[in-house]
Amino acid sequence: MDVYGLLGNPVGHSLSPPMHEAAYDELGLDARYVTFEPDRDAIDAAIDGAEALGVAGLNVTIPFKRDVLDRVAADDLARRIGAVNTIDFGGETPTGHNTDAAGALRALRDHDVAIDGADAVVVGAGGAGRAISFGLADAGATVAIANRTESTAHDLAAEVPGATGHGLDSLATLLADADVAINATSVGMEEDATPIPAEALHGDLVVMDAVYRPLETRLLRDAAAVGATSVDGAWMLLYQGVEAVELWTGLDAPVDAMNAALRSRL
Ligand code: NAP
Repeated sequence: MDVYGLLGNPVGHSLSPPMHEAAYDELGLDARYVTFEPDRDAIDAAIDGAEALGVAGLNVTIPFKRDVLDRVAADDLARRIGAVNTIDFGGETPTGHNTDAAGALRALRDHDVAIDGADAVVVGAGGAGRAISFGLADAGATVAIANRTESTAHDLAAEVPGATGHGLDSLATLLADADVAINATSVGMEEDATPIPAEALHGDLVVMDAVYRPLETRLLRDAAAVGATSVDGAWMLLYQGVEAVELWTGLDAPVDAMNAALRSRL
């Protein structure tokens, strides 16, 4: 049996086990997906232990995504993003990847967004904002990054090809001519709030939220009200998992089965 898992703390409410196990069942693989919650100072031992025990692959979540970067052979994209969310133990040495970027791109493409040449506004410059910004820019979009702490947006924009950095007060101007708007902040999770003023939205936008709990955020309600296309946070969550399954197994992931397993729990 192949063992895959999730390294994070806490991981008790993770949706990854049912989503990944739905994939293994659909593909007929003898594999299970378990959660591991090591202390932060035990992260090195956890990775060594997983390798020694023959664990096939690990996802990595808060607070270890950055810690793991220097513990594995991280690929170029993960290094630029500054975070690893997927470790593959299939080779001679564990390799580190970031599937959040590709997950966001596949979520958008699934909703008919042509990313190459698009004008995209990414709100947020933390882990999700970094992954989404690099992913979009690498795929040919022009990226404007707006963040509460404006200096962080400028710092990130200096790293992302062709990007510009802004404060949240520039959102109305930035969005007027944009094709895509993405919330990569945590706003909307704890309270019925949005980082993007409703009046800055318009019907020609595709609006994606990285927040997936709740699934229908205030931002997405505001987007629907002006006739914009909404992409909820479960799509990015789904596709980062799809990318991990494909990386680990070399097979096409059963997207519909994974999506059904995920959405039945949201
Ligand atoms: P993070 O690294 O802690 O970054 C948080 C971001 O939110 C920062 O840009 C921060 O701005 C901003 N922020 C926080 N509170 C704010 C407020 N009250 N007003 C305006 N901006 C605020 O977190 P993360 O890992 O990027 O995660 C962000 C969200 O994305 C979370 O909800 C997470 O669950 C979600 N996420 C979803 C997926 C998915 O697959 N769907 C994947 C990854 C993350 P400052 O720099 O000013 O603090």
